[in-house]
Amino acid sequence: MGRNVGRRTKIVATIGPASSSPAALRELIDAGMDVARVGLAHGTPEEHAAVIRRIREAAVERSVAVLADLPGPKVRTGAFPEEGAELRQGETVKVVAGDGPSTAAQLEVDFPGALDALTEGCTVGLGDGTIVLRVEDCGSGGATALVVRGGVVRGRPGLQLPSQNLAVSVPTDADLRLLDSCLGEGVDMVAMSFVRNAEEVCAVVDAAGSDPPMVLAKVETAEAVEELDAILSVADGVMVARGDLGIRLPLEDVPHVQKHIIRTSIAAGRPVITATQMLESMVTSATPTRAEVSDVANAVFDGTDAVMLSGETAIGVDPPGVVRTMARVVERAEQEAHYTQWGAKLGKLQRQSQVSTPMRITDAVSHAAWQAAATVEAAAIVCCSRTGGSARAIARFRPIAPVLTVSPTSRTVRQLSLTWGVESFLGTPHDTTDEIVWYAIETLVKQGVLAAGDVVVILAGDPDDPDPATDVLRVVRVR
Ligand code: PGA
Ligand code: MN
Repeated sequence: MGRNVGRRTKIVATIGPASSSPAALRELIDAGMDVARVGLAHGTPEEHAAVIRRIREAAVERSVAVLADLPGPKVRTGAFPEEGAELRQGETVKVVAGDGPSTAAQLEVDFPGALDALTEGCTVGLGDGTIVLRVEDCGSGGATALVVRGGVVRGRPGLQLPSQNLAVSVPTDADLRLLDSCLGEGVDMVAMSFVRNAEEVCAVVDAAGSDPPMVLAKVETAEAVEELDAILSVADGVMVARGDLGIRLPLEDVPHVQKHIIRTSIAAGRPVITATQMLESMVTSATPTRAEVSDVANAVFDGTDAVMLSGETAIGVDPPGVVRTMARVVERAEQEAHYTQWGAKLGKLQRQSQVSTPMRITDAVSHAAWQAAATVEAAAIVCCSRTGGSARAIARFRPIAPVLTVSPTSRTVRQLSLTWGVESFLGTPHDTTDEIVWYAIETLVKQGVLAAGDVVVILAGDPDDPDPATDVLRVVRVR
């Protein structure tokens, strides 16, 4: 086989105070970040816009997608004194229910059910996320937490609980306002927190305008697990949001729910992100625990499209180091993963809901392409794709051959940064399928990723089709 395929599982890294400077962003990209996640829970729309622009400016060597994360219901503490209060590392602080003022010794939280979300050992962020508390003890009168990283707080800072455990429907009004402002920045994807059903996803899709970003549903409520098939029929991808899932479901269910969500999403041709605490100890430490390394490797074995870093890159001591560690663990796991069995399994896992005719055609042709690529031991599977649909369809089979996509749309190129095994290139628009195929190969030869003598399997569609399907399959010898 021709080309070295490199790492196939993608890395999503959360941007925060430790990683939002231009230099830090460049380092994260060099280290292997494929998707930059910007949490909209704190900061102003102007600050989010500035970070998004910095990510774009830093992503010159490689395309990186921007994922904006809508927070859902938001918890704040009671007001701190005007002059601010300092929470010092190593000190303890009480967290109680109430609407009085907060001090360095006691945080008052006025949000129904907020304290139920605290569990022994969980990490809580305060304000912009620089201050980190770890819950040591949960009693009936409130929780006691250790200040792991201190700082000064003023006003009514947000409290980033591991769960908000609240039966509030999403998107909230605040989510819709945040969506509006990040649409202006041309984000590639938005994620919705605390989704419970497909209707809630549709509300964001409808609000996202005529050229919408991908809409990802964070599966972090028991209802969303129940409604997964319906959610996958309208969402463009999902996240296994284990932080909140682990509070809504018995903890011991989480690994199995993770496998179920990943399997179902792959079969549906939707990218799936495995998230939260993957290398958590690296928020403060230079090396991960053995259990964390094992967790990342197992997510790769489960077939996940992407693995995610949260606090590790947002507030951690060495964000690029964490990304490099994750990339190393992922690459090693991929050498052991049984990808050849994946496509065979998929045959029994056809898309659940009633699928449209174009979708049926795409499924059939991509299946044939996967088999053809294996038979001819193709150097690559080349997708000529405007929307990325054919690349996502072939990625379902987790093929051995690299999947190279050429798209005339830079946003598609960026969005495919989330899909397993796909490497994307910007091409030029053309009118006929013959031209599209010819120029795609030319682009890839010029990029040095294909060479004369390579046998490649090509997927394409009719550029004029109003209801596009992947209906062209060719096997080409590059000359
Ligand atoms: P969060 O979502 O980090 O926004 O809470 C992920 C999770 O709950 O695991
Ligand atoms: Mn969550």
